[in-house]
Amino acid sequence: MRVAIVTGGARGIGYGIAQALAKEGYSLAILGRSSHTDVKERIAQLPAAAQPHLYFQGDLANAQHRTAFCRRIMDTFGQIDVLVNNAGVAPKVRMDLLETTEESFDFVMDINLKGTFFLTQQVANLMIQQNRPGKIINISSLSAYAASTNRPEYCLSKAGISMVTKLFALRLADHGINVYEVRPGIINTEMTAPAKTKYDALIAEGLTPIRRWGTPQDVANTVSALCSGKFSFSTGEVINVDGGFHLREL
Ligand code: NAP
Repeated sequence: MRVAIVTGGARGIGYGIAQALAKEGYSLAILGRSSHTDVKERIAQLPAAAQPHLYFQGDLANAQHRTAFCRRIMDTFGQIDVLVNNAGVAPKVRMDLLETTEESFDFVMDINLKGTFFLTQQVANLMIQQNRPGKIINISSLSAYAASTNRPEYCLSKAGISMVTKLFALRLADHGINVYEVRPGIINTEMTAPAKTKYDALIAEGLTPIRRWGTPQDVANTVSALCSGKFSFSTGEVINVDGGFHLREL
């Protein structure tokens, strides 16, 4: 049996990752704020694994919820092989750098950066205790390096995730735990739905060398490859899944 945690694994990119890992035989522990009723159909549609998948309703930003989630995972499965830090939010309202509020800053940072950091800390300690090789994969964004002045808190949170990747990669290397960062570009999910028309036009004009939207499956395929063990001498690596957006042209 192999166990993978996927935060935000009941929809969007996370659900694509959950589908891919379940197909490969992982039993999943999924965290999300949605109710069981809202997600039960989607969870039931995931390929079955050695042990039934676990869905835990909780807020990544809440320390008690994170601890309760980890306890449930250990009570249910007794082990963790993979942690995919995927859950994340955009600001509720996009606001200019000169206008944005502390409330919006805290909302985004508490989930995307602080929640992810402290969940990773807890899971890393559990992985060390169980003394088995593990993998941690952080889903960041092109916003880790591309500055958007109308959502500074999102960019800061994702730039922070890049450092979370480096820090844990260094600290956990001696424990046989490899840490990677996957940087999606423009992916077709509910998060990007409000900007669909804008991105349709930009992509058609060549914003991404590969002129199409990315899909949750594109990101999931990369996560699956990183979990395969074929990158066992690499840690702290960043993989762009962005249709070539990060390339500079002169
Ligand atoms: P999405 O469709 O909005 O899904 C976000 C997921 O995160 C949902 O499953 C949501 O579940 C969960 N989540 C949000 N806040 C949470 C919280 N406080 N506690 C627990 N779970 C929480 O977004 P997505 O497009 O799939 O994005 C997934 C990740 O990829 C995010 O980190 C995002 O920043 C990153 N990303 C996305 C794109 C893109 O173009 N879509 C590009 C680059 C990076 P509930 O609603 O049930 O809480």
